[in-house]
Amino acid sequence: MAFPFMEAVVGLEILMYIFETYLHLRQHAALKLRTLPKTLVGVISQETFEKYRAYNIDKSNLRFVKQFVTIIIDSATLLFGVLPRLWKVKSGDIVESTGLDAENEIYQTLAFLACVMYWSQITNLPFSLYSTFVIEERHGFNKQTFWLFIRDMLKGMTVAIVLGPPIVAAIILIVQKSGPYLAIYLWGFIFVLSLFMMTIYPVLVPPLYNKLTPLPQGELRTKIETLASSQNFPSKKLFVVDGSTWSTHSNAYLFGFSKNKCIALFDTLIQQCTNEEEIVAVIAHELGHWKLNHKIYSSVGVQILILLLFGGYTLVKNSNDLFTSFGFDTQPVLIEFILFQYTIIPVQHLVSFDLNLVTHAFEFQADAFAKKLGYAKPLRDALVKMQVGNLSEMNTDPWYSVYHYSHPTLLERLAALDEPHNKAD
Ligand code: ZN
Repeated sequence: MAFPFMEAVVGLEILMYIFETYLHLRQHAALKLRTLPKTLVGVISQETFEKYRAYNIDKSNLRFVKQFVTIIIDSATLLFGVLPRLWKVKSGDIVESTGLDAENEIYQTLAFLACVMYWSQITNLPFSLYSTFVIEERHGFNKQTFWLFIRDMLKGMTVAIVLGPPIVAAIILIVQKSGPYLAIYLWGFIFVLSLFMMTIYPVLVPPLYNKLTPLPQGELRTKIETLASSQNFPSKKLFVVDGSTWSTHSNAYLFGFSKNKCIALFDTLIQQCTNEEEIVAVIAHELGHWKLNHKIYSSVGVQILILLLFGGYTLVKNSNDLFTSFGFDTQPVLIEFILFQYTIIPVQHLVSFDLNLVTHAFEFQADAFAKKLGYAKPLRDALVKMQVGNLSEMNTDPWYSVYHYSHPTLLERLAALDEPHNKAD
């Protein structure tokens, strides 16, 4: 008898769901704690803390519902063979109705993906609407109007519609045309694509959502420029991003390549950090990521993972049992990828957990970098203010945060900044 791949995948997903719900329950209990963490006593008022607590408990409740609905839909999709039916019936029909060749795998794949995208938008919509217009609204956090919300959703779909088809078509052609070195060709394609995305994407896409204006001349600009040139940062392009139109989340980031590097700070960061030193400290942290080559290390790591992934894919793609188990009698490229991805769910969770550990280490290193430049105190203040501005969780469960968060928690970062000696030294 053939191995019941599909049933095994559903079983695994349910096990993961139970495990993650257990972590979530731990986190929920931490959120309900009425006591301010020791590090924040005197820094945050009890009133602010209560505001936080209420907001995050609301969000956590919504997450319980969403995870539950997701696992039901995902399991039902697999158990009732929705994917093979969608592939055979719907996608073929759609292609035929446009007058194109229904047997063409590329057209059929695109139609299939369009259906999947449409469906996931529909199932996601109630949650994102509720989150933005009920929860965020109730806690005075939402600045988005319904129109802005719809416009952003449409923009996101447009980006996917413009970028998706050529990439999908290229991947299908590569799989169809290349022989034994398939994994290498696929990796090469993704590598070139990611270089392209890293240069083009930050220049083209954020301006669709946000307005970038040059930071005006003044003390703040001079301070940032002095810091940047002391670290040999190769550019003087400084932008303010109008994040405040959307929400009060605050941040700063670097983007662009070699000589075209830019520093962008959200206007919300400028509003929240009343002291200019604090903003400079946040930039010092970002410069730390750049100086310590964190982006390069993580890109190399990701490239190796992708190569391994494609290697694994070429091993699995010819397993007939796998396809029959999921109800497919043909082996289209996209379906090969989707089924392969199901078979590596456990590995995927382990890898993303390991990646979290790496980014945790990077955050501590960037903080230590800013600390070495003498920004420990203002960085500390800025982190607290950003946390308050973002209304993020204050009390967190250590298991939950190490499993889910790419960044260390505020408390962990403050503790590291307060240590007399840097961890990184
Ligand atoms: Zn960082």
